[in-house]
Amino acid sequence: MSALIACHPAPAPSDWRAAMRDLITSPAALFELLQLSADQLGWSEQAARDFPLRLPRAFARRMQPGDPQDPLLLQVLASQQELLTAPGFSSDPTGETGAANPQPGIIHKYHGRVLLLVTGSCAIHCRYCFRRHFPYADNQNSRAEWPAALAAIAADRSISEVIFSGGDPLVAGDEPLRELVQALADIPQLRRLRVHTRLPIVIPERVTAQLLETLSSSRLQTVMVVHSNHANEIDPQVAQAFARIRGAGITLLNQSVLLAGINDTAAALIALSERLFEAGALPYYLHLLDKVAGAAHFDVSEARARELHREIAARLPGYLLPKLVREVAGAPAKVLL
Ligand SMILES: *Cc1c(COP(=O)(O)O)cnc(C)c1O
Ligand code: SF4
Repeated sequence: MSALIACHPAPAPSDWRAAMRDLITSPAALFELLQLSADQLGWSEQAARDFPLRLPRAFARRMQPGDPQDPLLLQVLASQQELLTAPGFSSDPTGETGAANPQPGIIHKYHGRVLLLVTGSCAIHCRYCFRRHFPYADNQNSRAEWPAALAAIAADRSISEVIFSGGDPLVAGDEPLRELVQALADIPQLRRLRVHTRLPIVIPERVTAQLLETLSSSRLQTVMVVHSNHANEIDPQVAQAFARIRGAGITLLNQSVLLAGINDTAAALIALSERLFEAGALPYYLHLLDKVAGAAHFDVSEARARELHREIAARLPGYLLPKLVREVAGAPAKVLL
């Protein structure tokens, strides 16, 4: 066990389970915590019915009470702006419900790597999420359905990397994940395992010793791609979780979404890259928003995105510059801008 793990003892599994049971789901609890009213927040009951509030307390504690524009708050706020329809914004902007999803539990769009939808649920509901309209009911992928997904992966010799996705795959428990990783390690053509997750950011206690043991002890090389959008998300507990992940020999990257009013300034993007690196993660992608219905108020134009990216490229070392990308239905990879 490395020194890094030793100086930040891993939390018990019960800690993250307790945090998952104690999510903020009632608007009244959110208003009280922030000392703001529904009116001050522009809260919409209807938007919250369409996609419910779901917010871990550890994430909420990083918000500034009294600030209706807090960049963390805006990521989870069911706002009246979501009810506005906008041309070009649809419920399946990435084409995930069609031909790329022939087998429940798998999304195979790019050569060599396949998304395995480990679970349909998340610890947090991000209002801009392109999966807010995804038919999770068809992709619940309970443990009982994993064998069929694994068989489909095993049958395709072109696949070298499996990406745990969802939902948030780390909502699944340590024991099912251990079984899944073991089964994948038995598929000879696989070389890498990737985990796309927001849990180390929103509930850092999720980074348990058993999870790290599972991810670091198989023959597969493991990459974790966390998701944070603003420097304020990376507090000391998150930095300790990053240190444990890195201490287990796992490559740690971050992806962000460019979001109007949240991180669409050069200063915010630079602060995020710097903070991520301080905490031990490298910036990977900066995504343009997927044009999902209800999220038009987060949209940043492609012209503005390019300008911002040029500005930060002129200020940051190359290794702290995320790649600016957008997803284009039918394209063979994320499209670099
Ligand atoms: C983003 C994505 C991947 C991973 O793409 P990378 O460029 O390798 O990070 C794989 N499959 C799907 C369906 C994706 O959306
Ligand atoms: S899939 Fe990711 S972005 Fe979407 S709601 Fe879950 S954690 Fe947020």
